[in-house]
Amino acid sequence: MQATQTPTLAYAATSPAAALAPYALERRAPGQLDVAMDILYCGVCHSDLHTARNEWGGTIYPVVPGHEIVGRVTAVGSLVTKFKVGDTVGVGCMVDSCQHCKPCTDGLEQYCDKGFTGTYNGPEQGSGANTYGGYSSSIVVRESFVLRVSHGAAELAAVAPLLCAGITTYSPLMQWKVGPGHKVGIVGLGGLGHMGVKIAAAMGAHVVLFTTSADKRADALRMGASEVVISKNADEMAAHAGSFDFILNTVAAPHDLDAFLVLLKLDGTMTLVGAPASPHPSPGVFNLIMKRRRLAGSLIGGIKETQEMLDFCAAHGIVSDIEVIRMAEINTAYERMLKSDVKYRFVIDMATLKAGA
Ligand code: NAP
Ligand code: ZN
Repeated sequence: MQATQTPTLAYAATSPAAALAPYALERRAPGQLDVAMDILYCGVCHSDLHTARNEWGGTIYPVVPGHEIVGRVTAVGSLVTKFKVGDTVGVGCMVDSCQHCKPCTDGLEQYCDKGFTGTYNGPEQGSGANTYGGYSSSIVVRESFVLRVSHGAAELAAVAPLLCAGITTYSPLMQWKVGPGHKVGIVGLGGLGHMGVKIAAAMGAHVVLFTTSADKRADALRMGASEVVISKNADEMAAHAGSFDFILNTVAAPHDLDAFLVLLKLDGTMTLVGAPASPHPSPGVFNLIMKRRRLAGSLIGGIKETQEMLDFCAAHGIVSDIEVIRMAEINTAYERMLKSDVKYRFVIDMATLKAGA
């Protein structure tokens, strides 16, 4: 018998200027290697906003954002071995990749030579069809892009942001071997930044949080930062000149990178994960060459590493600090995110979409 598609409630933007609004779509019938799930919670990433408003270009409308998904399995294909109906699972920023190229076989699907399939804004491998993300009641995802969630039932809403904010900070911290004895800076205390503080602290680093928001100081210290620097204060910044092993910059807007590069010591690295719509002013070359400093970038993380990150966070009792919202509050949440007024991640309770609340 031919399995049928599942009608799914969602929220979509239909143009860069349009508010997100209810939208009906169909999920594919699960194939042999697919996992179907009801979405319980979906985090709200700044990338959702960049994409909904076409700030990076290339948005295909209607767009259903959302790539920090925690769900419960409702059906599995006949060849699925890792999951069964009723399991609590996660889906992050990717739902597929070519699976054959060197990055894919090395577990670095985010750098797939053919381009990975985003959880939203596609394109699907082969068909090229658009994909629709987690601001929806259900989703169907290839088994190899589904993650196991081992946190307790009461923490599931706060686990959702780990699927993007968690892995995007964990991956570069691992890549640059952050650990005890390292002085590590995290720039920006938003969704990504607050996960960066918690994870770097759990890795044993001495963590310094750089913020433009003086009122976030106490929260940063509670999350594991040893020091907080108000980045607008030149004297506070100068006190840290030439002292950092590694800085992770999560800021979502263009800003002066030199102010942070001069804080790195010999061979220190600053990795950019924030992805502003327009470029940063070019950094001064002398700040790089004088101490052989490095400026790097990093994109989310592979599936194997995402599972590692979820297990690391479960073992260390790490979840996101969240504000749970109703689906209908998403447009207000976007406006607050633009004002850096997020403590520290909005998470949509998807039951409110089904209930039409
Ligand atoms: P967010 O919650 O809005 O946090 C961004 C933080 O940056 C703000 O809370 C604020 O922190 C700081 N900030 C904002 N505007 C600033 C400005 N003009 N100058 C200095 N600091 C400013 O955003 P997010 O969800 O963490 O995402 C951050 C960025 O990472 C976005 O561009 C997003 O698209 C990108 N991203 C990249 C990846 C990747 O794979 N590389 C993955 C996910 C997201 P303070 O108040 O503490 O200053
Ligand atoms: Zn994201």
